[in-house]
Amino acid sequence: MTKGNINVSVENIFPLIKKFLYSDHEIFLRELISNATDATLKLKHLTSIGEAKVEYGNPKLEVKIDKEQKTLRIIDQGIGMTAEEVEKYINQVAFSGAEEFLEKYKDSAKDSGIIGHFGLGFYSAFMVAEKVEIITKSYKDEPAVRWICDGSPEFTLEETTDKTERGTEIVLHIAEDSTEFLEEAKIRELLSKYNKFMPVPIKFGTKTHTLPLPEDAPEDAVAETEEVDNIINNPTPAWTIAPSELTSEDYMKFYHELYPMQFEEPLFNIHLNVDYPFNLTGVLFFPKLSNNLNIDKDKIQLYQNQVFVTDEVKGIVPDFLMLLRGVIDSPDIPLNVSRSYLQADGAVKKISSYITKKVADKMSSLINENREDYEKKWNDIKIVIEYGIITEEKFAEKADKFTLYPTTDGKYFLWNELIEKIQPSHTDKDGNTVILYATNADEQHSYIQAANDKGYDVLLLDSPVISHVIQKLETSKEKISFARVDADHINNLIKKDEPVISKLTETEKESLKKNVEEAVKDAKFTVQLEDLDSNDAPFTITQPEFMRRMKEMQATGGGGMFGMGGLPEMYNLVVNSNSELSNQILKTENPEEKETLIKYALDLAKLSQNLLKGKDLTDFIQRSYKQLEK
Ligand code: ADP
Ligand code: MG
Repeated sequence: MTKGNINVSVENIFPLIKKFLYSDHEIFLRELISNATDATLKLKHLTSIGEAKVEYGNPKLEVKIDKEQKTLRIIDQGIGMTAEEVEKYINQVAFSGAEEFLEKYKDSAKDSGIIGHFGLGFYSAFMVAEKVEIITKSYKDEPAVRWICDGSPEFTLEETTDKTERGTEIVLHIAEDSTEFLEEAKIRELLSKYNKFMPVPIKFGTKTHTLPLPEDAPEDAVAETEEVDNIINNPTPAWTIAPSELTSEDYMKFYHELYPMQFEEPLFNIHLNVDYPFNLTGVLFFPKLSNNLNIDKDKIQLYQNQVFVTDEVKGIVPDFLMLLRGVIDSPDIPLNVSRSYLQADGAVKKISSYITKKVADKMSSLINENREDYEKKWNDIKIVIEYGIITEEKFAEKADKFTLYPTTDGKYFLWNELIEKIQPSHTDKDGNTVILYATNADEQHSYIQAANDKGYDVLLLDSPVISHVIQKLETSKEKISFARVDADHINNLIKKDEPVISKLTETEKESLKKNVEEAVKDAKFTVQLEDLDSNDAPFTITQPEFMRRMKEMQATGGGGMFGMGGLPEMYNLVVNSNSELSNQILKTENPEEKETLIKYALDLAKLSQNLLKGKDLTDFIQRSYKQLEK
């Protein structure tokens, strides 16, 4: 029997303390299962290169609870350790056997999937255990040994005859304050959180399996059952398989495996696979966003060599892709490090821009492969694309290839197609191409109609961040501007060099304007007389583009520098001086009748801009009935 002191390399004590102070206690299980997996993968590697002359077989790990003994065991059939190796790997804290292994077999073991890094994982056992035993037998022909430590720097190490099979058994004597880890439900939860896709099968208890009945079984026959291992993981999840070997059903199946509570199918997937200048694999899914904006649930999960690390991927995945789902696996992302470190890490930054590029490429190929299908999905994906355009310059640069601009009559244009189509008619007298849009086809119906009547196309841009996108397009493209259809009278939105014919004299116009202002008596409205077509609406309410857009931008973040959030709504009341009604207002002598006419027309204009509400609407309806009865 040996007695000695655990040797903590002083230079490494700081990360050790930090790790234990800041991590969840529950990660001990992930660490021990990672070690057991490493031990198995090392054996696999050594047998494959002929260095270990033993049968690899079909090794599995096992997790076992003994409530009476208050122990939790993690058992593997991996390489095991000799007494000498226990001294070396276990007694020297912060000395990583995993790193040493990778260093020694650097050429052949690069892709072996070894998880360990820092030589700290094993000691996390002491966060939940008052005493830890290691009973281990190396694949080499040497006696098994038992190591016991109660968390003080003292340990014992002795040979034992208790273990005859190759592998390692870690026995945790669970501490009084950690008995939750003796609960089956708790362990099942942790296994499913961290180990669901680990590369070596993990057994946790057994389950009852019903055998199929033979074909000639009598009707009342009862199917036989058998107890089989309950394997909690899928060792070969989709992201570890080459895309060419997967069908779309395989991706769907994986999606549901990843998110068992998600019942809707994703729209499409993006398989990530890169090995230079960093290693990364993964599968991202585009969910149907329109129906589900619960982004706190079912987020993208980050793995390292198939071990779950976190689903807080901020910094690794660009913000605009946080609405996606799926998995990213990279051995290059440091496990267990703080957020701020992650964001500063060079590899992590490269990962983020790689993912951005990959998503842009995928969008381009989707639209090229099947335009019709892409158009159908547009409504569900546009938020992500638009968010990407306003937040990621690299993405915005490519976005013209796959950003669609739908019109109110259900056609979809790419940017170049749109400009080509509308440029001839939508260009104003100063050479600016004005893109008309509506944000709500029903509410802005009369304005859309007025624009359509003049032969203009109107886009339907209804996502919450659209004002930011428009702002960005106006600054990045030459000689274009956007105007919502109700921002002004259509003749003013796209000003042409056409002579205006005025039916009223200047004095008549002045008195009409005065009449209207007196009757309206509402500071919200600025009266604006226009010589329009006599068939155009007599009164129209418009909301200037600039103010409205700034207010919207402020409401959805950004644009705050203008400080316009608190400003009251301002409208223009466009009075068509060439309309028959204007003429009639002017001619009406009786001031009461005049006022009634103006108010009625104003109410109609309000109605078509959805501004007539509450008491005003009720009054209007009553007045209208009276009018009918006359
Ligand atoms: P790391 O995994 O980062 O190397 P750990 O503290 O988790 O560090 O483990 C230290 C070392 O102990 C491992 O590298 C390995 O050599 C050895 N070890 C731990 N668990 C086992 C196990 N179940 N079987 C064989 N060796 C193990
Ligand atoms: Mg480890």
